[in-house]
Amino acid sequence: MELLNLSATYSGQQNPRYIVPEDEKIILRYLQWNLGEVPDPEKQVIPSSQLAQTFGTERTLKAIYNHDRIVTLRPPVKRLVTEQRYERNQSLADGLKSYYEHCCQVCGQDFRPVYGVSMADTHHIHYLRDGGLDISGNIVVVCPNHHQVIHTTNSHFNRQTLIYEYPNDLHERLTLIDHFTNAPESLRQELAPEPKYES
Ligand SMILES: [Zn+2]
Ligand SMILES: [Zn+2]
Repeated sequence: MELLNLSATYSGQQNPRYIVPEDEKIILRYLQWNLGEVPDPEKQVIPSSQLAQTFGTERTLKAIYNHDRIVTLRPPVKRLVTEQRYERNQSLADGLKSYYEHCCQVCGQDFRPVYGVSMADTHHIHYLRDGGLDISGNIVVVCPNHHQVIHTTNSHFNRQTLIYEYPNDLHERLTLIDHFTNAPESLRQELAPEPKYES
């Protein structure tokens, strides 16, 4: 704020109640579309995702730079975020990634040869919060792209055909399917007893 050449000093005030009118004009220029502040979705007429389409790229870039200036002029805002998560077995997730050599079961991509690190995710087909189990039959190993796409489009997984069905009618069949097929006879004798689920 000091760098804006204002007539009063507002530093130290979390929520300045009164701003000198001539200062307000200066500040307002830097607050186009509220991009410099955490936007209030209720009050925002134009969603931020439509800024460039509504106002053009030049004004949008200006708003983005103004945001940067405002953020640079104030201390970072820290907030405590607490989250409740369903318990999941990280060893199972890691074991599945290892089995598929960190390749996406949909597209087969492995990030390791390019970036030197595994980017494989595990995704629960039937969400844990909706009653899905943390078992391999409910988990698919995916690349970050597919993981995001599956969540964003809320795509449906067809367990019979092993196909992801997207709302735009695109269908993608898993290319790697081993753990969704039945365990071979050679493995069965060593498996724990078949669980009996109460229905
Ligand atoms: Zn993928
Ligand atoms: Zn997921």
